Amino acid sequence: MTTEHKTKSSSWKNKFREKLIEIIGNEGVIYTEDELIAYDSDALAGHRIKPIFVVLPSTAGQVSQVIKECHKEEVPFVPRGAGTGLSGGALPTEEGIVISLSKMNKILDVDIPNQRVVVQPGVVNLWVTNAVSPHGYYYAPDPSSQLVCTIGGNVAENSGGVHCLKYGATTNHVLGVEMVMPDGEIIEVGGKTLDHPGYDLTGLVVGSEGLLGIVTQVTLKIIKKPQTVKTLFASFDHVEDAGASVSGITARGVIPAGMEIMDSFCIQSVEAAVHAGYPVDAGAILLVELDGPEAEVEAQMPIVEEVLKHNKAIEIKVAKDAEERELFWKGRKSAFPAMGRISSDYYVQDGVIPRSKLAEVLSEIAELSEKYGLRVANVFHAGDGNLHPLVLYDSTKEGDLEKTLELAGEILRVCVDKGGSITGEHGVGYDKKSHLSLMFDENDLNAMNLIRCAFDSKGLCNPGKLFPTPRTCVEPGMKTYHVHPVQKKGMGEMY
Ligand SMILES: Cc1cc2nc3c(=O)[nH]c(=O)nc-3n(C[C@H](O)[C@H](O)[C@H](O)COP(=O)(O)OP(=O)(O)OC[C@H]3O[C@@H](n4cnc5c(N)ncnc54)[C@H](O)[C@@H]3O)c2cc1C
Repeated sequence: MTTEHKTKSSSWKNKFREKLIEIIGNEGVIYTEDELIAYDSDALAGHRIKPIFVVLPSTAGQVSQVIKECHKEEVPFVPRGAGTGLSGGALPTEEGIVISLSKMNKILDVDIPNQRVVVQPGVVNLWVTNAVSPHGYYYAPDPSSQLVCTIGGNVAENSGGVHCLKYGATTNHVLGVEMVMPDGEIIEVGGKTLDHPGYDLTGLVVGSEGLLGIVTQVTLKIIKKPQTVKTLFASFDHVEDAGASVSGITARGVIPAGMEIMDSFCIQSVEAAVHAGYPVDAGAILLVELDGPEAEVEAQMPIVEEVLKHNKAIEIKVAKDAEERELFWKGRKSAFPAMGRISSDYYVQDGVIPRSKLAEVLSEIAELSEKYGLRVANVFHAGDGNLHPLVLYDSTKEGDLEKTLELAGEILRVCVDKGGSITGEHGVGYDKKSHLSLMFDENDLNAMNLIRCAFDSKGLCNPGKLFPTPRTCVEPGMKTYHVHPVQKKGMGEMY
């Protein structure tokens, strides 16, 4: 929590609710205890807080009016898309409201000649590709949750996906946004054309985890479907050999559209769930997708096969048609939910390492798993070095969750020690804020906070996320605050 929000009286709540209903209408304001439960967490369901109200605006104007009321009454607010986030980013704040963007779900403009699509934030990721597919185009960032997650959530988290190795994450596909600032002002940054002059504010908003304002419109870039796509998987006895193949392929100058690894725990659970055709006795599989002009793909294929064989691949299977390719990917994209088949509970970690360290880090994770006596399943965007170790535990066993969190934290420490990061795509949110200081010192964090304060002087927009200690623009209770060098030089100030 970043500001002190005193418990509000029930008469204040009634008045505030009436105000919200005046702005949005009765059907757009949720206030009964039963209905509020549906909004008390995101997909990181271990953390739950019930908001006082949830509002479902239909226009940017309504979002702006709601935020102006929050600003006046000092009520914290949390933006929410589909609630599939895995870092507690959409976790409500006590005595605060949730602003759900699910009703703002229209595709506003499909501009094929200029390869642009303009959408409202509640549009589901896959709908964008569905809208442009008949014209031979697609929207490249494809999180495994793409059937449900929204573009607003993708923008906030700078989401990635299995095809982001070659084409980049969300930030490489967002050209502009309309956003309601934390005081209610509606602004536009970026636009349909490339390279707006001045600061890259679009780049700042993408990945800001819902702390700088509420995105109400997004301009996306779409790309042409490739002429040829070839997908294969290779199985290995050891996950380290799959890791070594990834660096081997890129070292030979081949950048596949995606390269994904699953270890034996994942293979077994995925096979049981979706029958993707993966060999259940393998220690690991590596999925590789090559795409582009036919001649290029044909030239790359033998190089990839050579590297895989060199790294002791047991079987190499190329998808024979689009249907089999879909099945290969369905297996990978079902990896998280399928884990429920082999463990009652699991915790998804999200760390990044340089891909040349894959084999080394996987061995260290195996050692940690043994040390803690907890199984760790590994599934990851291997080409990007983005690991998703899934720590399997049993919530009914006393102390298991605590041990899990400790182990997951140690994995992040390993990632940072190897020159990596504490998050690749799921964000810091509520869950990982205490780990941020593994990467940034006090000066770095204060510099980040100065930026936040420039947008949100009252600290009302998604408070309690990202920053490891309570940080607001007025810094109540921050005994350890030191003046930032930027302030000392008179180049910035705290509000
Ligand atoms: C099974 C599963 C698989 C997943 N696979 C992937 C994957 O492959 N890659 C990946 O990157 N992620 C993945 N995720 C995580 C998640 O789906 C993404 O983070 C996604 O972008 C969240 O979108 P959402 O609409 O559910 O957002 P929410 O969870 O509702 O919100 C996420 C964050 O965005 C903020 N936010 C939402 N809308 C707005 C808005 N309009 N303006 C400002 N802030 C906003 C929220 O406050 C919150 O901080 C997966 C999750 C699950 C459950």
